[in-house]
Amino acid sequence: MNRQLASLCVQKLSVPTGNPPQQLPLHLSSSFSFETVEESIAVFEGQKEGFVYSRYANPTISALAQRIADLEAFDTGIHAHALMTSSGMAAIHVLMLALFPKGGKLLTQGNLYGGTTELFIKVLAGLNIEPVFADLRDAHQVEDFLQNNPDTGAIFLETPSNPGMDIVDLATISSIAKRYGCKTIVDNTCCTPLIQRPMSHGIDFVIHSTTKYLNGHGTGIAGIIVSPDESWMRGRVWEVLKLTGATCNAFDAWMVANGLRTLALRMQRHSENAGRLAHFLMSHPAVSRVNYPGLNSHPGHALASRQMDLFGGLLSFEVAGGRDAALRVMNKLRLASIAPTFGDVETLVLHPATSSHLKVPLDMRLANGITDGLVRVSTGIEAPNDLISDFEEALRG
Ligand SMILES: *Cc1c(COP(=O)(O)O)cnc(C)c1O
Repeated sequence: MNRQLASLCVQKLSVPTGNPPQQLPLHLSSSFSFETVEESIAVFEGQKEGFVYSRYANPTISALAQRIADLEAFDTGIHAHALMTSSGMAAIHVLMLALFPKGGKLLTQGNLYGGTTELFIKVLAGLNIEPVFADLRDAHQVEDFLQNNPDTGAIFLETPSNPGMDIVDLATISSIAKRYGCKTIVDNTCCTPLIQRPMSHGIDFVIHSTTKYLNGHGTGIAGIIVSPDESWMRGRVWEVLKLTGATCNAFDAWMVANGLRTLALRMQRHSENAGRLAHFLMSHPAVSRVNYPGLNSHPGHALASRQMDLFGGLLSFEVAGGRDAALRVMNKLRLASIAPTFGDVETLVLHPATSSHLKVPLDMRLANGITDGLVRVSTGIEAPNDLISDFEEALRG
């Protein structure tokens, strides 16, 4: 074989310069090259902006991360920074390792995403980060706790919680935490910045599983950490991310960038469908309870109206008759699929007690309303009447 042909195959390919592509390029390159060693030194020493290695940063990922940061910071005057991670769980894990180098107490709630509760109990507790579960809707309880536990490094919360849809007051939590020098972290996955922007209420860090609404089409796993605090983000958080290798991959980020283009349209329709379905379920005799912050009867309705722009696409309801009745209804749905995720364009249902919350301690699960008859719905963007007919049919008999 001709050896020059072999060398030509191997030689670096470059895109011809010219007008730029209309869509975000997908940079599938583990490393980035330099014209000279001096340039390499300048980038490594941080004197020159540049890419080095995709575990440190990647152009596709950075472009998307900054867009999500800008959405989270919208209309606040804040310049936010963001780092994408390999999953939502990685975002939480990396941030905790960064914020708690020597351990300490982490104040949180019992009704978190099931995986997060497990991470706190089974992994972080072993690293001297002690999770304490409280009702964060109770400001006095939070204040008392911080007063009596000065070693509390952070408060981690979700609002609305999922699947119970409880609402926590972001402004109240952030102002109490600031008085005690405690960081605040919000998992904003259920809302996206189109619906709720925690940094506008003074929250220090926002994390997402971009796997859900931000991707929107169920095609990849990724996460993100967003914060106005440049020194934390460029310092310790980035360092932990890069050294633990919890980095996002460019392809998953690119899929999120694609999904993000329709986020506003999707969140509008998800919310409209959830509102219509919640009202329908409320009036159904086979349903004993509906949890949706858009309902007037929801205890957090007034607060949700203040801190959320829409009420979102997630709701849960309890089928009278418990576990067997709930499973029967789920099996009879035709338009909605049974799948353990949310935020996709199609309607998805899940039985939390036997899936997402299977490994969460029973007392904690029941205390937070995750009963055996509870069904979680992530409404898709189907025509609302078709969706309601599907549930009407499934609940019949
Ligand atoms: C899915 C989810 C996570 C975990 O995200 P992954 O991308 O699956 O790692 C964390 N928090 C919430 C609220 C979620 O829904």
